[in-house]
Amino acid sequence: MTSNIPILTLNNVSRTFGTFKAVTDVSETFGPDELNCIIGPNGAGKSTLLNMICGTLPVSSGSISFGETAIHGLSGDKIARLGIARKFQVPSVFESLTVFENFQVSAPANSDLAILEEILSTVNLVEDLDVTASDLPHGKKQWLEIGMALTMQPKVLLLDEPTAGLSADETSATAKFLRGLVGKVTVVVIEHDMAFVRELGARTIVLHHGEVIASGPFSEIENNEFVRDVYLGRR
Ligand code: ADP
Ligand code: MG
Repeated sequence: MTSNIPILTLNNVSRTFGTFKAVTDVSETFGPDELNCIIGPNGAGKSTLLNMICGTLPVSSGSISFGETAIHGLSGDKIARLGIARKFQVPSVFESLTVFENFQVSAPANSDLAILEEILSTVNLVEDLDVTASDLPHGKKQWLEIGMALTMQPKVLLLDEPTAGLSADETSATAKFLRGLVGKVTVVVIEHDMAFVRELGARTIVLHHGEVIASGPFSEIENNEFVRDVYLGRR
């Protein structure tokens, strides 16, 4: 069952750098435990938007709410503790620790072992429990970091280009397990790879020059003339 109360609400969120408008008047809501994509060409303002949601970057104007709590203006730490976890584009894991030790570091102290095992299975790392992170291929490092974020049992998981540098097979496997998170956690995936977004088949928001130019099911987005033009560099 999904309720109608958004878990995340963006209300006229804007960010400028000097006179440059990186993000302008973004208003969107995200329902609980749904999968969402934010796409757009390089420089569209995707990472800037994500940074404002997780508190790494202050908004210039507008408001962001987590449930009914206003979170713009809170520190990144506080926002994380409320239940918004974030994975950066470059994997940041503890290279000298094993996969399981990395999980032990990220998970709250009294975490249920069964839950950690379920997460390991979700991110396809059951066979790699005892592998040192530095020995993992790049794709599995990305998965390890997503797994570490999940061990915090967040309400919202923000992922910035999780398939950067992944093979086609790894990208498909990522789409599969992210789809499996529907109903468990709200996921917002930032991505510019259209093939991956097609595999996710989720509600999709398109940013261009910092503004939302389209929002809806991917099937609609993919047939949107303006979005096509933007992706083909015609606008
Ligand atoms: P995307 O993630 O969609 O590729 P970004 O959000 O990283 O785009 O960047 C959007 C625009 O804002 C780009 O033109 C970028 O150069 C600019 N920008 C991002 N961060 C800063 C900053 N700290 N200072 C100045 N300009 C920035
Ligand atoms: Mg980016």
